[in-house]
Amino acid sequence: MKKFCKALSLILALAVILSCVTAAFSIVIPQDVKNIILLIGDGMGENHLEWTKAETGEKLFMDSLPYKGYSKTDSLSGLTDSAAGGTALACGYHNFNSNLGTLSVLINGQGATAFTYMNVSEAAIKTGKKAGIVTSDENSGATPASFSVHTYKRELAEEITKQQCESELDLIWAIDNGISDKAEFESKGWTYSTTEEELRNLDKSKRSFAAISGSICYDTGDEKDAPLSGLTALAIDRLDNDRGFFLMVEGAHIDKNSHSNIKEGMMKSLLEFDKAVETAVDFAKKDGNTIVIVTADHETGAITKGKNGEYGFTSGDHSRADVPLRVFGSDGLVKDGEHIVNTEVGKFIGKKIGYDGRFPSMKFNPAFLKELFSAIIAGIKK
Ligand SMILES: [Zn+2]
Repeated sequence: MKKFCKALSLILALAVILSCVTAAFSIVIPQDVKNIILLIGDGMGENHLEWTKAETGEKLFMDSLPYKGYSKTDSLSGLTDSAAGGTALACGYHNFNSNLGTLSVLINGQGATAFTYMNVSEAAIKTGKKAGIVTSDENSGATPASFSVHTYKRELAEEITKQQCESELDLIWAIDNGISDKAEFESKGWTYSTTEEELRNLDKSKRSFAAISGSICYDTGDEKDAPLSGLTALAIDRLDNDRGFFLMVEGAHIDKNSHSNIKEGMMKSLLEFDKAVETAVDFAKKDGNTIVIVTADHETGAITKGKNGEYGFTSGDHSRADVPLRVFGSDGLVKDGEHIVNTEVGKFIGKKIGYDGRFPSMKFNPAFLKELFSAIIAGIKK
């Protein structure tokens, strides 16, 4: 019983401390940039770039960006997954890997989240901007989910899709996960599309959800594909408005092909992702008030250069290698050759958007206390 009381007081003390961190977080500060475009090459390490250039003889547009540094990708679990990696970039906070949290840190590990982190899409919307996501993954994939919903498990595709439907984002374009319901999305004010063709002729006054069917939109270089770069151009055109926008573009197939050690698929995906970067920077140059950030959530495949000078995959999993971080339009995030922690990306975007000097924000969830107390009472009854 003594031990239990000690544990109880510790838990209560922790709860009080945690609830104090819920200080006001809705201060809007003057914004100093209109638009931010963040492009995430899922699984893209520095050696993915080097290997692709060596093998294909192609130059990469992203090499021409003026600020070139690196991002450290470890999560609270150590080696990160895409959920925690996405959360760090989207919210500016570290997190545990998928079974412990996608967009909320768990204290009890059962589903009650102690905190909800605000993501940069939500922050953009709060300052009157538009916000959108384009991905070659399914809409419920870990990376797009990090920028649109809050859930403790990345596998909850239905819950993620439901939250996206109820979200205030202006645009979510992804591969169909077979779950999203057209009527439901339309009842919440979205247009619902399934092909690239439809996206070209949309009512601009409505928010746009796309569940692209089949293999279209996969960035593999297949001729049937709606290429990521084309969708990026369409999305920018849709989101561009007087108050500005935040857009996240994900090239998901760099990671997928690297998990399977498929060299050609990885390179095609990377070259298409690079074209999307060029599309974004072309817009930024014309606009004159846009920051473009290019990075990855983690490296996949542990690509290394062997003694023979040849690159190759040495794993089918994520690695802890620092990933490229390239910026156009601001010298405030990373200096040439500098290695920074991935959460700095989320913090930087939040501040540039003008949401809060202490961005990002986290909100304590009262439901967590309720669950904590019922667990304690259940313990006493035992
Ligand atoms: Zn992965």
